[in-house]
Amino acid sequence: MNYSDKISDTVGSIPRSGIRDFFELVIGRDDVISLGVGEPDFKTPWHIREAAIYSLEKGQTTYTSNLGLLSLRKSISKYVSDFFKTDYDPKTEILVTIGVSEAMDLALRALCNRDDEVIYHEPCYVSYSPSIVMAHAKPVVVETKKEDNFAVQAEDIRKAITPKSKVLILNYPTNPTGAIATKEELEDIAKLCVEHDLIVLADEIYSELTYAGDPGLSILQMPGMRERTILLHGFSKAFAMTGFRMGYACAPPELIEAMMKIHQYAALCAPITSQAAAIEALERGTPAVLEMKESYEMRRNYVVKRLNEMGLDCHLPGGAFYVFPDITRYGLTSHEFALQLLEKEQVAAVPGTAFGACGEGFLRCCYATAFDQLEIAMDRMERFVGTLKQA
Ligand code: PLP
Repeated sequence: MNYSDKISDTVGSIPRSGIRDFFELVIGRDDVISLGVGEPDFKTPWHIREAAIYSLEKGQTTYTSNLGLLSLRKSISKYVSDFFKTDYDPKTEILVTIGVSEAMDLALRALCNRDDEVIYHEPCYVSYSPSIVMAHAKPVVVETKKEDNFAVQAEDIRKAITPKSKVLILNYPTNPTGAIATKEELEDIAKLCVEHDLIVLADEIYSELTYAGDPGLSILQMPGMRERTILLHGFSKAFAMTGFRMGYACAPPELIEAMMKIHQYAALCAPITSQAAAIEALERGTPAVLEMKESYEMRRNYVVKRLNEMGLDCHLPGGAFYVFPDITRYGLTSHEFALQLLEKEQVAAVPGTAFGACGEGFLRCCYATAFDQLEIAMDRMERFVGTLKQA
């Protein structure tokens, strides 16, 4: 059968993730140190795993409300109020989702009509553009620059706005650059959003892993923004819970209701075992998050120092667990650099272009890897860079 005729044009038009493509080269090679996949090397803290086990022991094996357990929504409401200084009603303004991935997809599908324009900043998380396309909307890229530490500038967003602009996706701290935004930058962007009536999808998945300033600083707190922001947050990164697939969205009731309509038909509800674990994470998980964050910060400082010493110009990222060194001086494309590094020194890092065309000339290295492995990876990278001629 010719399946290409069967698959929808929309899905057919979407490329596979550049990260996955690259990592297929690594599968089955245990000599490789991977700085690739954006996943904590920590196990989920034991008391959180225990809460999941206990929930199963109690026989909690049913569906929950489509919105998620009310007890979890109450915990989310309290946590978000403390962390982001913004209040949401657990009954009507919070939806528990299957990771931020589902929350992002629901938000885009709930908001977009065919050909509405969705603005987002690149380099960015690999799912944004395909998710926009799958919502039948049009992705509009705003490039960020090294000289701005990869923080998107309001003026650049302004240039991208047209009468069809409807949504702006913001992600701070940013995957893959680790960028964070200043209050002034967020204020300027907020003014634009109010002026042009844009809804913001604020992907705050790395917020707890912010190493400078207030981790809870968000566009959400800027004047006029609570009513036009969907806060997307989750447990994967800060709580080291990627496998639990837990996330949530907070927004005004009409927006949550629209997202819930899709969620109830597509997923029904998030898994109850993961919801039980999420309550424990929010109620008692913060000390473990702070401990992991301290370890990430130490690794960040080490990796940035080593990269700069070996001649790979690397800014100090303010958050997340990625560094994004500039490799342009060696005259190789990001893909060539990453491939040669893998072949010659068995270190896997992701070409910057996996995160958008303007990632050319950069490499993403995830430092959520054991410190002794990072030391070996840096030694190997130094040896590799030493063999390259500067362009
Ligand atoms: N948003 C960003 C910026 C990410 O980097 C990731 C995962 O890498 C996600 C969302 C997906 O997170 P989740 O595991 O909650 O679906």
